[in-house]
Amino acid sequence: MARYHEPVCRLCRREGMKLFLKGERCFKEKCAVERRSYAPGQHGKRRNKAQPYGLQLREKQKVRRVYGVLEAQFRRYFAEAARQKGVTGENLLRLLELRLDNVIYTLGFASSRAQARQLVRHGHVTVNGRRVDVPSFAVKPGMEIALKEKLRSNAFVAEALETALARGVPPWLELDAENFRGRVLALPSREDIRLPIQEQLIVELYSR
Ligand code: SF4
Repeated sequence: MARYHEPVCRLCRREGMKLFLKGERCFKEKCAVERRSYAPGQHGKRRNKAQPYGLQLREKQKVRRVYGVLEAQFRRYFAEAARQKGVTGENLLRLLELRLDNVIYTLGFASSRAQARQLVRHGHVTVNGRRVDVPSFAVKPGMEIALKEKLRSNAFVAEALETALARGVPPWLELDAENFRGRVLALPSREDIRLPIQEQLIVELYSR
């Protein structure tokens, strides 16, 4: 399966903001955005005047990077969002939020979406009691997501859960932290998605 293998902190620096791709490190002084708040590369410190296309492209890249989705798959999500009823940009964000790896991260069973993806790939996650090892699996309201017994005493999981409890679980999810279970209560609304994203710019980009 294709994946991005380069240093991820470069992605945050490129977008000029923290994308929280590395778990605990993102909250520490070591964060690359804190230490070098300019774009990576030889010309990173140059200030380029942002053109409309540039703004749209950056917004799309930002969302893609936050959710760890490659271009081809992102385009498929967009096509699906455009097919659905309602506002395309909001549909797109909802489809991304409903990915199993994102739900595992949001519930606090992993400290980053990348770690959540790995937990899923390695078969540590069940949906309605059955193992699911596809990170892009789309959860639906009513589904119960749980972490397998083996990982429940893991220190990384405990740390991630503590952080998640401090930041709070969005209202479309229910967390039973003691039993490492979560339930999807509803589809996420736009207000539930806390990322600073202007999804309309992505719609404009793909409508060119
Ligand atoms: Fe981004 Fe986290 Fe790296 Fe900071 S530490 S640059 S937030 S991935």
